[in-house]
Amino acid sequence: MTYSAYMPVKCFWGNGCVCNNSSAIALGKSCLIVTGKSSAKLSGALDDAISALEKENISYAIFDGIGENPLISACHKAGEAARKAGADFILGIGGGSVLDASKAIAIYAANADLSPIDIYKREYSSKALPVALIGTTAGTGSEVTAVAVLTNDETGIKKSISGPDCYASVSFCDPEYTFSMPYKTTVSTALDAFAHAVEGFFTVKCDGVLRLFAEKCIPELYFCLEILSKTDTVPEEIREKLYYASVYAGLVINNCGTAFPHPLGYVLTENYGIPHGMACAAFFAPFIDRCAEFSNEKFNAFCRMTDDADKVKAVIKSLTDLGNTVIGKEKAENYALRWQSVIPRNFTASPGGLTMEEAASILAEI
Ligand code: NAP
Ligand code: FE
Repeated sequence: MTYSAYMPVKCFWGNGCVCNNSSAIALGKSCLIVTGKSSAKLSGALDDAISALEKENISYAIFDGIGENPLISACHKAGEAARKAGADFILGIGGGSVLDASKAIAIYAANADLSPIDIYKREYSSKALPVALIGTTAGTGSEVTAVAVLTNDETGIKKSISGPDCYASVSFCDPEYTFSMPYKTTVSTALDAFAHAVEGFFTVKCDGVLRLFAEKCIPELYFCLEILSKTDTVPEEIREKLYYASVYAGLVINNCGTAFPHPLGYVLTENYGIPHGMACAAFFAPFIDRCAEFSNEKFNAFCRMTDDADKVKAVIKSLTDLGNTVIGKEKAENYALRWQSVIPRNFTASPGGLTMEEAASILAEI
């Protein structure tokens, strides 16, 4: 067994966990609440958070300008808003986009001289503000990961920052906040969680307790995905299962990382607006084929946890809506140039590895 694991986020799980643990939200005296357009309100999470803050005598301002695939410019602007409001901590309420943005905002808020792009340099004069998170989608696991995926406005390219300063101090995981997700978002975020669990599972780092986490959430996520493939009315117990499983999957990727479907998926999101989870799921079939070829023991374990691989591929395909997206050889080769100088860790971590040429040929199949 060779593995290492570091998972320092204090998590509160279960229905009512925000209101029942209001003292845990008190990371300071004043906070900037960060949200997207409407989900924080729609899910009920914003009201509960405000009640908890008021109970703890914490003042707050709200920044509701974070969109999907958060832009560094929006995070930078929110950092300024945090300073203006005198916030000494950040409270992010939303899906992965808002949770990731909150981690970046905490860095910008503490570093007035940091330009938007310089966040990627990962050298700051002051420590990031503490962050509290409340999740409203069952997908990214950002509640527990030390990662924030940000989009560079100038290039349109998604790039992560990661490190101990990207851990939230506290996360509240209440599945009820995910109940308001529309069906398509539910499917896409569930596919993302499945991608995390499966990609993480097949890395060599996934051993010991991390393998246990993956083996817990893979069958649960697949069970839920099979149900989502049959009905668009999602029972609450399925939503609960999906949410908790997505957090387990977050613990897996936080320590093991993801494999090649994630960076290939970024191309579909950046250029064709495909939601993140669907974009990663688009590469499930070629990924699992490589796992069968290069990682036999884990592949057999994966099939025991789910089903015959062809059946699993069919279920994932039936849920993956890529619209009319067609890439083809020429465009695929251009997109793949981004991996020309540095092959991502995700490629090396994939069973059998992946070269830039192989990535281009997989992209060309879309
Ligand atoms: P998202 O982009 O946060 O949200 C997608 C849409 O769903 C938004 O329109 C949002 O609305 C809406 N929504 C969220 N919760 C809702 C609810 N409870 N009810 C109704 N609508 C709701 O989706 P996501 O898949 O969770 O996050 C994707 C991002 O996370 C990507 O940028 C991806 O790269 C990143 N990611 C991060 C990690 C990590 O480890 N940090 C891992 C994987 C992916 P509002 O705009 O109103 O909020
Ligand atoms: Fe993801």
